[in-house]
Amino acid sequence: MQPKERVLGVPPYKPGKPIDEVKRELGLTEVIKLASNENPFGYSPRARAAILNELETLPLYPDGGSMTLRWDLADFLKVSPEQLIFGNGSDEILQMICRTYLGEGTNTVMATPTFSQYRSNAIIDGAELIEVPLVDGVHDLKAMADAVNENTRVVWICNPNNPSGTIVSEADLLTFLERVSKDVLVVLDEAYYEYVVAPEYPQTIPLLEKYPNLIILRTFSKIYGLAALRIGYGVASVEVISHLNHVREPFNTSTLAQAAARAALADQDFISDCRERNRQGLKQLTDKFDEWGLKYYPSQTNFILVDLQRDSDEVFQQLLRQGIIVRSGNALGFPGFQRITIGSPEQNEKILSALSGILTGALQK
Ligand SMILES: *Cc1c(COP(=O)(O)O)cnc(C)c1O
Repeated sequence: MQPKERVLGVPPYKPGKPIDEVKRELGLTEVIKLASNENPFGYSPRARAAILNELETLPLYPDGGSMTLRWDLADFLKVSPEQLIFGNGSDEILQMICRTYLGEGTNTVMATPTFSQYRSNAIIDGAELIEVPLVDGVHDLKAMADAVNENTRVVWICNPNNPSGTIVSEADLLTFLERVSKDVLVVLDEAYYEYVVAPEYPQTIPLLEKYPNLIILRTFSKIYGLAALRIGYGVASVEVISHLNHVREPFNTSTLAQAAARAALADQDFISDCRERNRQGLKQLTDKFDEWGLKYYPSQTNFILVDLQRDSDEVFQQLLRQGIIVRSGNALGFPGFQRITIGSPEQNEKILSALSGILTGALQK
């Protein structure tokens, strides 16, 4: 058997290590995971009730069009139902975007480092990559606009950016959109949208009217706390959504995911509470980092990329042995750094105390 050559050029995705695996490998009983930007505060109790309520319907295929969720979300976002598409996580939507718009002879522009899935899917679909380095952890939108040429079909803006946690401002985004041809699809990946508090962060859904070449991606995996259910959505012009529906699998989101997402959406108090607690957790970490003189990128998300100025994989292993899973900066294009998900106050305390040991230990050497 011979796979397509370019498929072998994409390494399989390396997720944050699962808790049970670490427990087994290291013989630990208590392990916390601050590696995949999951919500330490769980999810809305309303979502739980909604899931239990669907248990009798499991023999039936899900509603392929996610109609009830679609109506609710359209109402919530003040868009028309035809402007929405749902995916098995927003991961699946970005895959649909690549399948629909990219192929041999086309190229796609993205930042580097950014979320790895844009790159992987674009390579699999045969497009050429144009990767534009971040400047101070932020998308260089001017250089990205300069990089667009007649073969560019898709530009990716991860806002806030994973793994740096930084945002592009409304002013910079608008300048960029004015410069880029309306024939180029601009993807705004807003997986961390609900965590952002900065006033200069753009509200992008109203921009769809003037820029029909935009698609906004959001997810129920992060602040909504439903990562296991795999559901995310895209908001775009009716035309873009209709293109994507050509490649969408018939039953790509499950009944449980649709029901839980609807119930979770209706509980916005839970979301504001999580946003507030996340900001407190972020401060808990950065107060200590400041005290220790560590540099980090200003985060508008539920994770922080901190420069420990030490071999990333070594620190990662040291934390692992103490029952703490993070993401090594080596895997993310930031050697010397760690990406740490903001946890509960107790989890944050645990990692701070472990880091303090690691940092002072290294000083004594
Ligand atoms: C987590 C994440 C996603 C994917 O989330 P899904 O679980 O597939 O909805 C997409 N983009 C970014 C930047 C992410 O961090």
